[in-house]
Amino acid sequence: MLKKLLVANRGEIAVRIIRAAQDLGIATVAVYSAADAGSLHVQLADEAVNIGPPAAKKSYLNIEAILKAARDTGCDSVHPGYGFLAENAAFSDAVTGAGLVFVGPSGDAIRMMGDKVSARSAAAAAGVPVVPGSAGRVESLGAGRKVLTETGFPVMIKAAAGGGGRGIRIANSLAEFEQAFPQAEAEALAAFGDGGLYMEKVIGKARHIEVQVLADGSDAIHCYERECSLQRRRQKVWEEAPSRALSDELREALCASAVALAKAVKYSGAGTVEYLYDDEADRFYFIEMNTRIQVEHPVTEAITGIDLVAEMLRVAGGERLRIRQGDVSVKGHAIEVRLNAEDPAKEFAPFPGQVAELRIPGGPGVRFDSMLYQGYQVPPFYDSLLAKLIVHAETREAAIMRLIRALNELKIGGLKTTKPLFLALAADPAVRTGDVHTRWLEGWLIENAAALAG
Ligand code: ADP
Ligand code: ADP
Ligand code: MG
Repeated sequence: MLKKLLVANRGEIAVRIIRAAQDLGIATVAVYSAADAGSLHVQLADEAVNIGPPAAKKSYLNIEAILKAARDTGCDSVHPGYGFLAENAAFSDAVTGAGLVFVGPSGDAIRMMGDKVSARSAAAAAGVPVVPGSAGRVESLGAGRKVLTETGFPVMIKAAAGGGGRGIRIANSLAEFEQAFPQAEAEALAAFGDGGLYMEKVIGKARHIEVQVLADGSDAIHCYERECSLQRRRQKVWEEAPSRALSDELREALCASAVALAKAVKYSGAGTVEYLYDDEADRFYFIEMNTRIQVEHPVTEAITGIDLVAEMLRVAGGERLRIRQGDVSVKGHAIEVRLNAEDPAKEFAPFPGQVAELRIPGGPGVRFDSMLYQGYQVPPFYDSLLAKLIVHAETREAAIMRLIRALNELKIGGLKTTKPLFLALAADPAVRTGDVHTRWLEGWLIENAAALAG
């Protein structure tokens, strides 16, 4: 078992990981930037180390500073969380190279699955259907034109290193494509340090469905699926499990393909295989694998009763997977909404500031994962995620009622947040019936702009 863990992250996920470690009796070390000295993860960890100035490049992305903090405090392991260095193969290698345990897959597994182009190839090789598109990276505009015969229009130009909904462009015509391609290349290089692009056919009215896997390097299991079709700018805002769109046969097939893929790359730790599901054609396509814990992992924890972060820590500590596939079963329905410090009335502009008042929802079936406390100053430097509200109930209908109840209990004074968006969505007939797709929310936001402004 691990003895002392450095948590190389901030915000709600750092708090989540510290809690899991403490539940297992593992000592914890937080790292923080100068902007985060007063933050909850620093307060909850056994020790905390300042790793640099506010800019992420100088602190949370600073591999040398993080490794030094781990050495200075006598840690034996590092958990990367999500975002920042979580899918950085060089970081995984550097941690391992320093004689520490990386709580996640090997650098090689990250290189294979974290790069979205090589992940497509690995999926295809494992017999998992991928979206029609380029075979590898598209190295030039000319090569891209050839791929168009495969995809038609509209086509997606995607960054091989993209993530968090960024690095994706859609072209509806050859003229748009020829204009967008070099722009996408320049943007990808600037944003991800890698200008590599690939192309995919646009799957029209698709649902986003993803399968949670847990693996120990030789064995792998799945913990069923989540549906994350409610997205804004290709970023998930509301996630739930199970998906209402899947038949038992399709669920079986999706979960089996995710496990096959995890086994094929000798995956270790927690990971998520993401798919698009076209319910009209009844076809699913692999889009990417996230080689880390995901923001929305709590909905799976709610319906399966499995502590995914604790299982990551056990596997990283050298244990074999304790959970057999036959032990994983689904109970009820869970929904998570992402409460961001953003103003829904002003096109979701970031809204940093001080939490003047805080009332946290509770009661049966309610979980609130957050770094908030009364008086907390939300810094302007990072992701705007403040909290995740997760509700669990016997049925989807009951979960939505519970979500409304918990949102009404929740009070975050002094800040604008995405709470009004979720109250409006929870009341919407299409959301109530689950009749949505990944671009549904975009249209809804245009139609309901007035309601959110008021
Ligand atoms: P999830 O699938 O866990 O919901 P998201 O795609 O929403 O993941 O991303 C989780 C977090 O990681 C977000 O804060 C997002 O901004 C960040 N992130 C993911 N991939 C990247 C990347 N390649 N570069 C920068 N940030 C990323
Ligand atoms: P990221 O790494 O940013 O999460 P993904 O490849 O997972 O990127 O795609 C993010 C979202 O973009 C998907 O959930 C989906 O809504 C949309 N998307 C991605 N690829 C396609 C596609 N080929 N057709 C239609 N929508 C897509
Ligand atoms: Mg994705």
